[in-house]
Amino acid sequence: MNHFVSHLEGAIDGTRLEFGRIYNLHAGRPIVVRYDLDAVKRAVTPEAIAKRPPTLWRYRELLPLPFDAEPVTLGEGMTPLLKCDRLGGQLKLPNLFVKDESQLPTGSFKSRGMTAAISLAKWLGIKRVALPTAGNAGGAAAAYAARAGIECFVFMPADTPVVNQFEPHLYGAKAFRVNGLINDCGKIVKDGTEPMGWFDLSTLKEPYRLEGKKTMGLELAEQFGWKLPDVILYPTGGGTGLIGMWKAFQELKELGWLKSDKMPRLISCQAEGCAPIVRAFEKGERFAELFPNAATVASGLRVPAAVGDFLMLDAIRASGGKAVAGAEAAIAPWMVRASAAEGIAICPETAVCFDVLEKLLAAGDVRSDETVVVFNTGAAPKYLEALPVELPMLEKETIDWTKISK
Ligand SMILES: *Cc1c(COP(=O)(O)O)cnc(C)c1O
Repeated sequence: MNHFVSHLEGAIDGTRLEFGRIYNLHAGRPIVVRYDLDAVKRAVTPEAIAKRPPTLWRYRELLPLPFDAEPVTLGEGMTPLLKCDRLGGQLKLPNLFVKDESQLPTGSFKSRGMTAAISLAKWLGIKRVALPTAGNAGGAAAAYAARAGIECFVFMPADTPVVNQFEPHLYGAKAFRVNGLINDCGKIVKDGTEPMGWFDLSTLKEPYRLEGKKTMGLELAEQFGWKLPDVILYPTGGGTGLIGMWKAFQELKELGWLKSDKMPRLISCQAEGCAPIVRAFEKGERFAELFPNAATVASGLRVPAAVGDFLMLDAIRASGGKAVAGAEAAIAPWMVRASAAEGIAICPETAVCFDVLEKLLAAGDVRSDETVVVFNTGAAPKYLEALPVELPMLEKETIDWTKISK
């Protein structure tokens, strides 16, 4: 067998679509990949997977790329699951872990989605892609497109972090700033499909980035010995991380690979300056309204409207979790507090999760005996604007030791 995909499916209405054709949305909503899990179960075991190289392509049977196609890869290594004893001690949470996605190519978990999406785009014969980005997606897409020999166009809000502006340029993509938000950039990409002949690689507007991001859930299960933690805190923008992990957990459950079917509670963390999913969750709604005047230094979370909103809200509710907003003023202090306690470079998006975690602990929504995983989705050094630093200046001729010891 060349692959284990049974079909694609319109997520809103379950319509079956044939695999191997080029799709974006169905009925204006995302398309997801479905597998013949019985066949996967016969073909591979967790023990066999454990012997493969530690990259996300070790889960090949649960990924859509046919076996006779070479992945477009930059060596997406299995990311460390780091126990955080110092920070856990401060929070009175002895089983606190950070899954550090910042160590992936291009410094964020976006590379998981792009290795899958660009591999499939290449397999489907696509020569030109375009996408809107809040920051990290543009750099990751540009890198993988370069590797595949695919042309790439990137559109980003004018005030996107400067490192994210630099990245697509470095990787030879054609990048533009736009006087608007990511949804305005998304409209440019959509409108350009006809005149520019590009493939729209926007979050959840093609089926395969989600499959790449799903591997966060697969890795987490494997790293915990095919058990899942009690609580996962995930910084939520477009939602592929949450939706992908939930999809992974359901697939693992159906495969019978999990030692316990108890699912983690998914905590969707957003910044108070852009919290459409939190609002919809609190109102009990299945779809989210556009969040007006979206603004936060956690640029990856600046997504005022998401086409996969209902998939996020369904997953959060099915897991018994919540969507909670973190305070803008807490972002910079938490970046330093968590990074300094653990030596892990915590990005602003993840700093939001720590503020949320502290609130949930105080409210008793997370108990101190629970196993909690916080995803560090990106690399802090990419966010110079989030934490302006001016180091004290010394005169080399007259070192003032009192100044240093202070
Ligand atoms: C894109 C991004 C997010 C949000 O990702 P989704 O899974 O699409 O919601 C969070 N953190 C960082 C660093 C990002 O780049």
